[in-house]
Amino acid sequence: MASEDYVCLNIECRYHSSQPFPVCPKCGHRNTFVTQSNMRVRGCIGGALSLGVSCFLLFIAVFMSVVIANKRTAMRVNDVAALLLLYGLGAVFLIGGISLMIGGGRWLIGSLVSFGRRGGSSRIRRR
Ligand SMILES: [Zn+2]
Repeated sequence: MASEDYVCLNIECRYHSSQPFPVCPKCGHRNTFVTQSNMRVRGCIGGALSLGVSCFLLFIAVFMSVVIANKRTAMRVNDVAALLLLYGLGAVFLIGGISLMIGGGRWLIGSLVSFGRRGGSSRIRRR
């Protein structure tokens, strides 16, 4: 049997080894090791989910554009902001989904994680 590479699931660690450790020697997390092919499957599933979300968001954005365009009243700033947000999120998920499916996507999850951390810590500090 060909020896398969194992990799730590922790997105900030991604420690590679030829055997699955019970505890990751780099980041110290337990049971994070999966095979690289397993990782690729996860990437594909994540990518497909992300593409699905992006399609949904873009669909709502297009639908809202049509509704707003058909309204007799003048465009409100709120409508435009919501539309821009929807299109922006849709684009982010679209790009992220594609990059996840082709094996990358680390930058996206990494930035999401760091963004979440930053938001969380600033929220704690404000209290
Ligand atoms: Zn690790």
